[in-house]
Amino acid sequence: MSSLARASEAPLAARGDNAMQAFDVERVRRDFPILSRQVYGRPLVYLDSAASAQKPRQVIEAMTSVMETSYANVHRGVHKLSQEATDLFEEARRKVAAFLNAAKPDEIVFTRGATEAINLVAFSFGQKYLKAGDEVILSWLEHHSNIVPWQLLRDRLGIVIKVIPIDADGNLDLDVYHGLLSERTKLVAITHVSNALGTVVPLKAVIDAAHAREIPVLVDGCQAVPHMAVDVQALGADFYVFSGHKLFGPTGIGALYGRFDLLDSLPPYQGGGEMISTVSFERSTFKRAPHRFEAGTPAIIEAVGLAAAIDYVEALGRDAVHTHEAGLLGYATDKLSAIPGVTVVGRARDKASILSFTVEGAHPHDVGTVLDRAGVAVRAGHHCAQPIMDRFDLPATVRASFALYNTRAEVDALADAVKLVQELFG
Ligand code: PLP
Repeated sequence: MSSLARASEAPLAARGDNAMQAFDVERVRRDFPILSRQVYGRPLVYLDSAASAQKPRQVIEAMTSVMETSYANVHRGVHKLSQEATDLFEEARRKVAAFLNAAKPDEIVFTRGATEAINLVAFSFGQKYLKAGDEVILSWLEHHSNIVPWQLLRDRLGIVIKVIPIDADGNLDLDVYHGLLSERTKLVAITHVSNALGTVVPLKAVIDAAHAREIPVLVDGCQAVPHMAVDVQALGADFYVFSGHKLFGPTGIGALYGRFDLLDSLPPYQGGGEMISTVSFERSTFKRAPHRFEAGTPAIIEAVGLAAAIDYVEALGRDAVHTHEAGLLGYATDKLSAIPGVTVVGRARDKASILSFTVEGAHPHDVGTVLDRAGVAVRAGHHCAQPIMDRFDLPATVRASFALYNTRAEVDALADAVKLVQELFG
């Protein structure tokens, strides 16, 4: 199975993770209150973490605690509570920076999530650096949120979108990619891990080739950060985005990492309070990055929750999480592949935590519904990645996605439920 750790060039031990730590999944599960509930009288088997991950008690308690003890608006109050809330908010920024190994906290902009972060870059980078005829390179593996913002920009500015193809297993075609790079290319925007197939993109190679031509690279890290150590400096990423809710944190918060000189060169994305230095009716001046990009009251409680989620993952040890999940994915891939009539979609050389499949004779939505009645929560559909479904000539797939709290017994429950589908539809 894949080597998820390869995604980061930095050894995990050097990043403070305890690689040798034993991974006790049952203890981990006790941290997630929702995992003990039942659905339709059966134990919940939650295999939809790629859509949104469940929350540990530590995150829930951190958010409750800030509301009970230290809540006020940030950056603007002179009073004690506002100072405490501001400290917690800026501490969260430091945690995100350390989590990604950014050079400094000022490289982290809080956003509503990955989608908003990509839209921010498309708008601000587009306004500053792009004009008609300039090219932005995407890949066939992208989520809609890393396609549509560029199409909106194309419609506004007349830029051209080029797409890196993939092979039948879901591997990126690097030869074609090299051929797409030209003096017209002004940005490469690419996912780190495909949410539909689980492919881990060979980012270092992608970024190095772009940088050889001084082309910046934006990475959509939504499906990477919950599963592997990410070092934006070792990778050389110019922008890196993720969503908190897929990392066991709350909804409504995510982060944009931007290499400081590049980030600080961009115009604001939205205007309002907190992002300005001065305002008059004639003109306004703006703060430096990251505050220039954080107009209005930010998601304060959610930032505290995200920081707690990062603490949680770091305490488990990302190497230990990786080993656990790689074992699960390998086990699930073997188990489902052994069922006649089940086809695994996406067999890339390097994969993370996602298993897409189809069941002969049953529409993925029907499979998802039967699985649900058996207590197994999966996603069935196009996974907000319609181009990749078209690439495989499929309307949809069933997607089981694994996280640090899943077990082999849950994979067995998935396989049993798939056999039930076959009995019903056979
Ligand atoms: N990118 C990828 C790869 C995703 O999987 C997702 C969500 O599924 C997104 C972006 C969008 O994330 P959000 O809806 O949290 O902004």
